[in-house]
Amino acid sequence: MTDSDEYARTIAYAETAMGQIRALRQPATPRNFEIWFTYATGHNPELNQAINDTLVKAGRLTEQDLSSLYDRYFSAARFCDKVDEVGARIVGEIEQVMTMIETAIGNSNDFSQSLAGAQREIVTSSDREQLRFIVETLVRATKEVEEANQTLQKRLVDSREEINVLQENLETVRTESLTDPLTTLANRKFFEDSIKALLEETEKSGAPLSVILTDIDHFKKFNDTYGHLTGDQVLRLVAIALKQNVKGQDVAARYGGEEFVVLLPRTALMAAVTVADNIRRAVMGKELMRRSTGETLGRVTISLGVATWRKGDTVAALLERADACLYAAKHGGRNCVVAETALDDSETDLEVRVA
Ligand code: GH3
Ligand code: MG
Ligand code: MG
Repeated sequence: MTDSDEYARTIAYAETAMGQIRALRQPATPRNFEIWFTYATGHNPELNQAINDTLVKAGRLTEQDLSSLYDRYFSAARFCDKVDEVGARIVGEIEQVMTMIETAIGNSNDFSQSLAGAQREIVTSSDREQLRFIVETLVRATKEVEEANQTLQKRLVDSREEINVLQENLETVRTESLTDPLTTLANRKFFEDSIKALLEETEKSGAPLSVILTDIDHFKKFNDTYGHLTGDQVLRLVAIALKQNVKGQDVAARYGGEEFVVLLPRTALMAAVTVADNIRRAVMGKELMRRSTGETLGRVTISLGVATWRKGDTVAALLERADACLYAAKHGGRNCVVAETALDDSETDLEVRVA
C-alpha cells in the first residue's frame, strides 16, 4: 500500500467519523472520535453491531452508551482490564485457600497436642472415669479435625473449578489479543512470534519451513469503485480462502492492510507452491455479489510469492525473498504464484511460476 492510498483511506474514515459525531450531536472528544473511526473502518464487527442495535432501539447514543461501548470494545484497555480482573480473582482464590490451609495446619497441631496430652494422662491414670473422659475428649478432637478436613477438601475442589474457569478466561483474552478482528485470522504479532519460534525449530531439526506472501491485485481500484466497506468484505473472503487451504500447524495471518502471509512448517518449496496455487484458485473462483442489491462485482485475484528456509536464514532474509517473489508475481502479470529456487544461492533467481 502506498502512503497516498493510506492517506486517502484514513481521511475517508475520519470524515465518516466526524459526520456521525455531527449527526448525533456528540462532543468531538478523542474517545468518541476513536469509537466512530473504528466504526467507519468496520474492523470490529461486534462494535458496529452493538452501535447499530442501540441506534435502532433508542435512535441515539447517550454518554453512558458511549462510555460502556468504549470500555467494552477498545482493545488495550479492554485486554488490560480483563487480565487485571482475572489476575485479581486468582490472587483472591489463592489467598482464601492459603488461609484455609493455615487453619488446617493449626487444627492438626492442636490435635497432635491433644494426642500427646492424652498419651501422658493414660500412662499415669488408673481411674476408669478419667480414662473415659480422656477417650471422649479424643473422639471429639478427632471429629473436629475430620470436619475441618472435609471443609478444606470441598473448598479445594471449588477452588480448582474456579481456577479452571479463570484459566479459560485468560486463554480467551490471549486469543483475542492475537487475532485480527476484521478477518479473524492471526494478527501480525502472532505471525511474528510464530515465525521466530518456527525458524528456531527449523534450525535445530533441519526440517523445511516455507512462507507464502500474498497481496490482493488492483485492490485500490476495487476500493475506489465499490467503497472501503465492500473492500473489507473482500479481505474477509481472501481470509476464508486462506483458512480453507491451510491445516494443522500452518499459520495464516493478516500481514498488513491487504497483504497476508502463510507459514508452512515441515513443508518443502514445491508443496508450498501447491498450497499457494490452491489459495489463488480459491480466491479467483469466487464471484462477488452485493447481497442487498444482487449487483455482481466481478472477481478479485491475488498474487503470491513463495520462499523456503535456507541454512543461516534470518526471519528478515526469508521474508525478503518471499517478498521478492511476490514482486515478481505482480510484474509477471498478477494472479500467479512465483517461487524462489530453494537450492540456488543467488537471491534474485526466481524459477517456479504458476498461473
Ligand atoms: P497491486 O495489484 O499492485 O497490489 O495493486 P493494488 O491496488 O492492490 O496496490 P496496493 O497493494 O499498493 O494497494 C493497497 C490498497 O489496499 C490501498 C488501500 O486502498 C487498500 N487497503 C489496504 N488496507 C485496507 C483495509 O484494511 N481495508 C480496505 N478496504 N482496503 C485496504
Ligand atoms: Mg499491497
Ligand atoms: Mg495489492
